[in-house]
Parts: sequence; C-alpha cells; structure tokens
Amino acid sequence: MSTQVTKVEQLANWIGGKKVAASAKEFLPVTAPSTGEVVAEVPLCGPADLDKAVKVASEAQREWGATPVKDRVQILFRFKAMLEAKTDQLAEICSLENGKTVDEARASVSRGIECVEYATSLPQIFQGRLMEVSRGVECRTRREPVGVVAGITPFNFPAMVPLWMFPLAIASGNAFILKPSEQTPLCAMELAAIAAECGLPAGILNVVHGGRDIVEAICDHPGIGGVGFVGSTGVAKAVYTRCSANGKRVRALGGAKNHLVVMPDADPEMTASNIVASFTGCAGQRCMAASVVIAVGEVGPILDRVRTQAASLVPGRDLGSIISRKAHERIVAYIDKAEKDGLSIVLDGRGAQVPDRPEGNWLAPTIIDHAPKDHPCSCEEIFGPVLSIIRVSSLDEAMEIENDNPYGNAAAIYTSNGGTAEFFSANARAGMIGINVGVPVPREPFGFGGLFDSRFGDGDLTGEQAIDFWTITKKVTVKWSAGNRANWMS
Ligand code: NAD
Repeated sequence: MSTQVTKVEQLANWIGGKKVAASAKEFLPVTAPSTGEVVAEVPLCGPADLDKAVKVASEAQREWGATPVKDRVQILFRFKAMLEAKTDQLAEICSLENGKTVDEARASVSRGIECVEYATSLPQIFQGRLMEVSRGVECRTRREPVGVVAGITPFNFPAMVPLWMFPLAIASGNAFILKPSEQTPLCAMELAAIAAECGLPAGILNVVHGGRDIVEAICDHPGIGGVGFVGSTGVAKAVYTRCSANGKRVRALGGAKNHLVVMPDADPEMTASNIVASFTGCAGQRCMAASVVIAVGEVGPILDRVRTQAASLVPGRDLGSIISRKAHERIVAYIDKAEKDGLSIVLDGRGAQVPDRPEGNWLAPTIIDHAPKDHPCSCEEIFGPVLSIIRVSSLDEAMEIENDNPYGNAAAIYTSNGGTAEFFSANARAGMIGINVGVPVPREPFGFGGLFDSRFGDGDLTGEQAIDFWTITKKVTVKWSAGNRANWMS
C-alpha cells in the first residue's frame, strides 16, 4: 500500500504573460475560510520580484501605450465575453478562497464585469478638448498613459476590486502590476490567465504576491507612476503617505463605519429586508455594509422585522464564512465586550456551526441594541455580520452622530418623505448616499469612493474620475500660421 502525500500548489507570480516562480523563500498558507482546508501557498515577495515585473511591464508598455485606444479595447471586448462565459468558474474560486457564498461571488464577478464594460467604452469618452484661444493659435489636450501603474487589493472582493482598476488602467494604455491580498490570491491569477487568453500582450497585466514588504516596494519603486489601493484605513493612509512622499499619484480607499438612519415613516418591509441584506451580505465583510442603524423615534416594529429576518438566515447556506480564525476572534471580541458592558445582544450569532463544514469560521447575524454612540461597537469597523442599533429621538440627533463619524464611505436613510431624504443627502458626510438603499454602490459610470478616513487622495477609483487618475493630460498650444504676428497675449 502506498501512502500518498498531496502537496498544495505553491503559487508563482504572473509576469510577462506567464507564471514565473517567485524568488521569495517564505510562503503563507491560503486557507479556505469555510472548510479550514489549505488550498495553496502564496509567496511573500519583495523588491527583487517586483523589480522583475516592473522591467517587463515597462518594456511592454511602450508598444501598448502607442497602440490606438480603439485597438486596445478590442481585447477588452473579448475579455468581457470570456469573463461572462467563465463567471461560474471564477465565482467558485472566489467562494473557495474568500468564503462568501457562490451566489455572492457570482454577483461580485458581474459587478466587476461592468467595469470592463465601462473600459470598452473608453474610445467614446476619451476625447480631448480643442479651442482657438487666440487668433491662429489653438490649445488642445492630449491624454497619455501614466506608464507602469499598480493596484493593491483587499481580501473581501478578490475578483471585483482588481476589476475596478486594471481594465480601465490598461485600456488607458498603462501596464499594470496587481498585488492581490495574500489571503485571496487565486482569482487574480485566474484573471491574468483569462486576459492572456484574450490576446492581452505579455507584460501588460502582471501579478506579484506578498504582504507588507511588496506593498512598500511598490510605494517606493521609481518605475511605478501611479498606485490604486483598497483596504483598511491604517494601511490606506500609510500607502497614500508613502506614495505621495515618493512623488507618485495615489488613490487609497480605506475602511468604513456606515450608518443607516431609519425614520418612523419608512416602509417597514422594504426597510427591514434591506437592512438585513446590507449587514449580513458577504458576512458583513464589505466596506459598504450597514454596521450601525440609527433608529429615530418609534421604529420598533421595523427593528422587530430586522431581528426576525436576520434570525432566519442559515450560515453556510445564506451566509458565507469569516475570512480567518483571527478575524473571527476579533469580531467575537467586539460582541463579548458589548455583552460585558451590559449592552443588549438581541440576536447572538456566536457559536454558529455548519455541520458538514465544522472547521469553517462561522458567525451568524448578531444585533446589539441600545448601543451607546461612543461604544466601540458603534464607532469601530467590526467587519462582520454585526449590527449595532443606536436609539435617538430626532433626525438632528441622528445627523450629529453620522457627522461625527471619522469615516465617510456610505450613509443611508429610510424614509417616505422626499424632503427628509433631500436633507439627508445634503448633510450626511459620506461619499456614497443611499435613499432607501442599504448598499448604495454607484454603478458605472458613477464612480466608487468615500470621503475622509475612507479615502486618501482626491477622486474615485472607478468611473469618470478614474480615467483622469490612470492618464496624464498634456496641454498643447499650436500655431501653424507664420504670417500671424499676434503674440500669445493677443
Ligand atoms: P488590509 O488593509 O489588511 O489589506 C489590504 C492590502 O494591503 C492587502 O493587499 C495587504 O497585503 C496589504 N497590507 C496589509 N497590511 C499591510 C501593511 N501593514 N503594510 C502594507 N500593506 C499591507 O485590508 P483587508 O483586511 O484585506 O480588507 C478589508 C478592509 O478593506 C476593510 O477595512 C474594508 O472596509 C476595506 N475595504 C474598503 C473598500 C473601499 O472601497 N473603501 C473596499 C473593500 C474593502
């Protein structure tokens, strides 16, 4: 009888259109959150591997950047079609490495595909401006790629967040280096392989793996002109500061603590099911998740529905798992503290089990009621399926709490009064506002991006403002008429 030892794959980087073994000596296990199974090992690369990728990218970018945008996007049309054909396959990988349900993974791939669709429309929206600014003298703009750019992405949307960035960046003529989360590196490799299959020239999309070392190397590398980042606030701020100090353009999206204000005139059924979907979707591991409900006045019946609906969700079927044991412990510690401090845990998801996957990191929906506005569960990003409810007696009081929030990602209100909704839109301090919408993600061409501690650097990371981010605009002033003696002032 022979003993078979199954060794998991040690991931390579993707450089120059193919897998290239990393020179890193250290590897981390990639663990499937819903089973506890180690499915791969990811190399923790550093400056040497990055430098290899930048050299290849820089070489490839010269030809790519000189290719007309109409030709560049032909590959993206093929990429979009291929992603649609392979959505199920990608969703399976995403669900495996991230722990979200396959349906959630499929939906996230579809949202990513919308960004590819937007990138294919670049020839229609990319034109420059031209005007005669003086007699016989005209000014026009020229858009050019930045060159080699990079994207650093978080664990919670392993396919969608990379797709927020690289399709538009490469359609704009750049070569891209993607550094996915070391917790979820598999989708990035699959996306790169699919792009190559669609005819994307080698070196235009590269993937390098690792954690802090490679992120810092990206911030420091003189061959990288722009960096998009999505992740937690502390790291976003550090990446923003380091890239800026090195003279790079950078947009860094950070964490969130999103408030949902519930008014007594809100539609009970729509509001309740919306709140539940918002705080439990992707097991609360979304920067757009509702994490605090501010209940204004008599909204008890709505909150009762929230509790009943949330209690009916079954982990493993309706709810995915938490990314890691460590994250699970962090979330449970918030609930333990709330309990110790005497807060009312009206729905307790601790101890949830999924019988056929006992090693998964499960946590059922949890609701903490009558939370003080300054308790950690009301102010800090928990990033799990935990909803804190703060009770107030007026909209003014609710706005004060919302506006005190250092984050500014999303804020939503549930009401049937247009005037109240308008007041909220104007006064909530968040980049993305929902009116009766609990996850107010702007769809293309509207850009995704928060404010304050949820975003460092100006502008959104998707949509119209992202085109400016991934390009340089030159102004060209032209005079061809030698007979025209007018000077530039005339
Ligand atoms: P994270 O900040 O831990 O990691 C993000 C990226 O930074 C990863 O690629 C990681 O390798 C790297 N990184 C981690 N620690 C680092 C360090 N000390 N120095 C340099 N690089 C480091 O975030 P996460 O846990 O993967 O993702 C969850 C966070 O992302 C949450 O805070 C969530 O709100 C946020 N997020 C924000 C948005 C948004 O659009 N604002 C979207 C998705 C997720």
